[in-house]
Amino acid sequence: KCHNELVRLKGNIRVFCRVRPVCRGEHDSAENMVSFDPDDDALLYLSNKGKLMTFELDKVFHPQATQEGVFQEVQSLVTSCIDGFNVCIFAYGQTGSGKTYTMEGVAKDPGINQRALRLLFSEVTEKAPDWDFKITVSMVEIYNETLRNLLGDNQGEKLDIKMNPDGSGQLYVPGLTEFTVQSPEDINRVFELGHMNRATACTNLNEHSSRSHALLIITVAGVNFSTGHRTQGVHTHTHTQFLYRTSHAHAHTHTHTHTHTHTDRQTVIQDFVSVHPLLGKLNLVDLAGSERIAKSGAEGSRLREAQCINKSLSALGDVINALRSRHSHVPFRNSRLTYLLSDSLSGDSKTLMMVQVSPLVCNMSESVCSLKFAQRVR
Ligand code: ADP
Ligand code: MG
Repeated sequence: KCHNELVRLKGNIRVFCRVRPVCRGEHDSAENMVSFDPDDDALLYLSNKGKLMTFELDKVFHPQATQEGVFQEVQSLVTSCIDGFNVCIFAYGQTGSGKTYTMEGVAKDPGINQRALRLLFSEVTEKAPDWDFKITVSMVEIYNETLRNLLGDNQGEKLDIKMNPDGSGQLYVPGLTEFTVQSPEDINRVFELGHMNRATACTNLNEHSSRSHALLIITVAGVNFSTGHRTQGVHTHTHTQFLYRTSHAHAHTHTHTHTHTHTDRQTVIQDFVSVHPLLGKLNLVDLAGSERIAKSGAEGSRLREAQCINKSLSALGDVINALRSRHSHVPFRNSRLTYLLSDSLSGDSKTLMMVQVSPLVCNMSESVCSLKFAQRVR
């Protein structure tokens, strides 16, 4: 009872903060600006013009935190989608605060995206033969409120978000590639392809990526054979449990009582996947830079970009805030980002907001803004 109480109080939304180190070539007296509490890893202090501001989060990562160390703290969230949960992990912060480093990472030290997909793949492989899983991956970019497929050859196409007409409330994106991951090599292929497609058609990838949201969407669909009987070395299952989730995020278990042999498995999964295509979904989101674009400076396309970013980031804040305060109306429809993720934010879904902070004094006011956003959704 005590444990449930705690879970209820803490809810399904976690807010972490990661302070990046001062990088080589940056000359900044960062030491006094950001400080940490040696006894409490949930507190962060900023000294702003001689005033000390305290921020309380669920966890704070120091500049020395490793990619591995950060992943350890999000690992259980990642694997919960094998149990059928929908999960969102966002990296929020101004351009240059380390969002892409945290999510994508660098070649010799990958971030959450690669580690998550590899972990899911290996966990799922280990569960065989009692379970059969199918992992699919999609990559989407949202720029100026339009969606672009990053794993297909329809780069120029603007994708739509559609509601499934079957009344299930399920959303889908026609034209979006769902890449089935069957080997560790497939994982490399996915990231190479996504990166390549994102880089083409833009002159400066860094600039472009700071103005768009990048989403890696991993779905895990599974069929449980563990309740089956095994007779004399032949896999004969009299009960096969199909676990699936509806858009209302209730877990259901279907028990089919029919006998089939090992060779039938593929057919069974195919049927199952086509009828109930969703179990657990992990959405990994590298958000557009949260910096305020100087109002006087921006015009034309820059102004439109800034408006789209502001709109979607504040829509995200509004949605998380409404979910956290258990409002009956959650404004999912206010941006493409929140609409696309609505089935992974509502119900018993789990959300982690990783607020990225630059340690530089010149970034102070943006750091304060990001931490205020953190407090707002926490
Ligand atoms: P953003 O995506 O928020 O614009 P980046 O992830 O590109 O920021 O980070 C900006 C720079 O800082 C990059 O050169 C990146 O490699 C470096 N960086 C960010 N976080 C870290 C970290 N934790 N450790 C080492 N370098 C980092
Ligand atoms: Mg980036």
